[in-house]
Amino acid sequence: MASIKKICKERANKLYGGKFPQLVEKRLEKELDLIKETGTSALFETAYEMKKLASKNETLIFFRNAFGAPLVSYLLGVVNLNPLPGHYYCHKCDYAEFPVVDDDYTWCGPDLPDKKCPICGEPLRKDGYSFHEKLYPEMGKDADHQIVLECTRTLVKECIPDSFTELSEEEAIERKFYVPHIKPKEPRERAAFELERRMLKTNGARKERMDRKYFHVMDDDMDVRVTCIMNPNLEFLEALENSTHVRSRDVFFDDKKTFALFNSVQLLGVPRDSIGFDIGTLGVPAYSSNATVQLLKMVKPTRFSHLIQCMGLIMGSGTWTDNADKLMKEDGISLSDVITSRDDIFVALTAHNIDEKRAVAIAKAIGTGMGMGHDVERVMEAMDVPEWYVESCRKIKYLFPKTYIVFHNAVAWQIAWYKRCYPREFYKCFIDEFADSELKRQIAAGANVVAELLDKYNPDVMDDLGKEMLVEYPVLMVANEMYVRGYQYSL
Ligand SMILES: [Zn+2]
Repeated sequence: MASIKKICKERANKLYGGKFPQLVEKRLEKELDLIKETGTSALFETAYEMKKLASKNETLIFFRNAFGAPLVSYLLGVVNLNPLPGHYYCHKCDYAEFPVVDDDYTWCGPDLPDKKCPICGEPLRKDGYSFHEKLYPEMGKDADHQIVLECTRTLVKECIPDSFTELSEEEAIERKFYVPHIKPKEPRERAAFELERRMLKTNGARKERMDRKYFHVMDDDMDVRVTCIMNPNLEFLEALENSTHVRSRDVFFDDKKTFALFNSVQLLGVPRDSIGFDIGTLGVPAYSSNATVQLLKMVKPTRFSHLIQCMGLIMGSGTWTDNADKLMKEDGISLSDVITSRDDIFVALTAHNIDEKRAVAIAKAIGTGMGMGHDVERVMEAMDVPEWYVESCRKIKYLFPKTYIVFHNAVAWQIAWYKRCYPREFYKCFIDEFADSELKRQIAAGANVVAELLDKYNPDVMDDLGKEMLVEYPVLMVANEMYVRGYQYSL
């Protein structure tokens, strides 16, 4: 525990220097207290060790349960997402600035205008996504002492210390690891199951379910269980890093030209009819479906926070179709007011003076698909929560916490950035990752073969998870775009 505290303080001092803001100090103390109280320091120590082993590929690994203490996790380097409100910091000197932008909590650091350091003149870095610590008390005494992370195959080899014991799937089931094909009964399992299903949907290709590996280790008398989930989008990103020699961590989230891809096909330099898609994000995870095009056309994203909200709507269930789309189209409700994450519900309810504990419980119940019940509806009415908002909550079947959403959006953005800057490598790595050997052979046979195969498919199946052709269709669409733009694919 002492070492966690020390590492966090050192990193915070390095980041924010002498001007270590009170905001950071107070929050850090609170989170450290919570870890102590719940006796979960072994989880953070284990995650820290793993992350250290994987430090060269830091952006390709995501600890899902870094939640419990987002600032501690960030300062330990376990996650790359800064949970503080949007801010500037200087990487050369110790300057930091936390501007008050407006009362819209949805904005994030990368939205801020460019600025130079008033002390040393370096361009300031921008960071911060406003994760509410209140929403993530999952590491309480009753919580599962399990680390769940998403990574790539290469990283599993790197980040698992020798002291860990690998378990077979059967052993993992016996030890009550969460295993996706067991029929979910308990709310917690159901939520995890739902999570998996939704994640697969945003991946939208090849793999039926993500491969997993299970490990455990004894640490401070605590049996820490580790589940590694291989995320195909991270594999894709890793392949892009390897073929371009540009690290994804060096991709900033405010590149204007990358935003252009999310708004039209102009940057691709081809007519939209020729690729059968209205925007430039074919092949970008979560941004390749027809429903997403409608959403992006309505939003016209120009800020990273717009995309975070879009991603929340895409990843969630019951969030966009017949819910946010109607509210935005017909009732003039703005993107920053519709529900895109569990955090949104928490913030909206506390703004209506519903107490934090209750707001957390409601946000979680709605977010995990357990609904809200009459008593919750009565509370909302009594506190003057607008009827459209209550109705929108009723329609939601699943919502992600904002941390997940920001992570997956960051991955999608980085992939879009490679598409803009390194199109040749983008198409090659995409097809290598998402097509099976038969499909690769067909694509390599040329533009005509791809066009013929595409003719067989009805574009409406793009959003239909139930059909097998989902596997091939998006890959063929990307291959077609590649040929239209004059690039080639060879085996
Ligand atoms: Zn400076």
